[in-house]
Amino acid sequence: MANFDYGLELTNNSKVGWAFSLPRTETCVNATALCKRLCYGNGVRYQTNGQKDKRARNFRTCEFLLAEGGPELLAENLSMLVEQARPRDWLAARISGRKTAIPWTMRVHDIGDFYCADYVKAWTLTATKYTECKFWFYTRSFAPDELFDTLTKFASLPNCQGWLSVDSENYEQGILALCKAPAAVWKLALLQDSELASGVIPSLHGLEMELDIVSFPHHRSGRHAEPLRNPLLTVCPAVIGSLPLSPQKDSLRPCQACAFCLP
Ligand code: SF4
Repeated sequence: MANFDYGLELTNNSKVGWAFSLPRTETCVNATALCKRLCYGNGVRYQTNGQKDKRARNFRTCEFLLAEGGPELLAENLSMLVEQARPRDWLAARISGRKTAIPWTMRVHDIGDFYCADYVKAWTLTATKYTECKFWFYTRSFAPDELFDTLTKFASLPNCQGWLSVDSENYEQGILALCKAPAAVWKLALLQDSELASGVIPSLHGLEMELDIVSFPHHRSGRHAEPLRNPLLTVCPAVIGSLPLSPQKDSLRPCQACAFCLP
């Protein structure tokens, strides 16, 4: 029976702040076996019926809006989410010329990934409209095709930063995508598991370019793999506990305080 339960909803995450999520099964189109196994989305917090229903409803609604009106119609609806993510004091700050207490940010996909070019186009239209909001995302959707080309356009916006998520299984494909894209658009995010493939670090060293690489030691339930220390890598301070998580919606979240991954 068709499901007519529609609506787009944000998640407010104690590490990143406002984020939009989709179900992994439908949208992580280029996921590796390793990231499926280690994904933090496997954690209890993300597996409640409420969380799963929200992601499924978001996906169903994206598909419905794309079918009915293409990226433009979906962008209109995503715009409402971005407005919802405005800091509480946004208007007062605008009038007084001061900065807001916390920055206006949107992490695209706390869970899930970019699954088709039209969906990416909708986010591109949205981010183009809200230049004061900082968008950032990590993706494994970098197989060479229209989807990656469209994503590269999205990541090229001045208020957007895209990170190619690489791990022991897909680092060669990630490096290839990085090298084929225009310079200085993409950065790399490394999922560092406890048995990192021996070729990863030499391959990163072989890249002859200035490049930020953030490393996420695999973590689950407050424990994390021993962080690999290497001058090429910036270890995420939130993963190793140097920046405490914050449950308060209107307080500065670790990613907003650190801002390494933000545009
Ligand atoms: S490095 Fe900083 S901005 Fe990036 S995920 Fe970690 S805390 Fe967030």
